[in-house]
Amino acid sequence: MNNEIFEQLKELAFKRSIPFCYSCYKEAPTGLCKVCGSDDLMRLVPGVGCEYGTDWVIKHILETELTAVDLEEEFEESIRQCYPEETQVGWMTFDTLKLMKENDPVGWHCALADYESQEESEGNIISLDGGSTFYKVHCIETLLFSN
Ligand SMILES: [Zn+2]
Repeated sequence: MNNEIFEQLKELAFKRSIPFCYSCYKEAPTGLCKVCGSDDLMRLVPGVGCEYGTDWVIKHILETELTAVDLEEEFEESIRQCYPEETQVGWMTFDTLKLMKENDPVGWHCALADYESQEESEGNIISLDGGSTFYKVHCIETLLFSN
């Protein structure tokens, strides 16, 4: 994972959330609870939630401000650019993509997985949840830049 991006997202998450003492149920913007003196603080995003750590804040920022990549759609698009739109089999004409997907779903999914790891290793996409959601690195960079 791209550490620099993650560190910057963490910074943004700190900016967008308020330290919160859960035992006193009070905001502690200085990083120390004024009531009990604790520095064991949660992060509060008003109207969203209150939890320890910044991972969930980052997740919230990405979910609300960016669109996750639809990898299959992108993969389909790249395949469409490589092969003719229609394929003739005997006297029948098929949509090439549909024909491939329907006749070899396993082969299709392997190729899709390869595409995903290639995009990830080239630094085009990034996942912060172990691969269930991907975002475009350049979209995250734009988001970070404008904040
Ligand atoms: Zn407190």
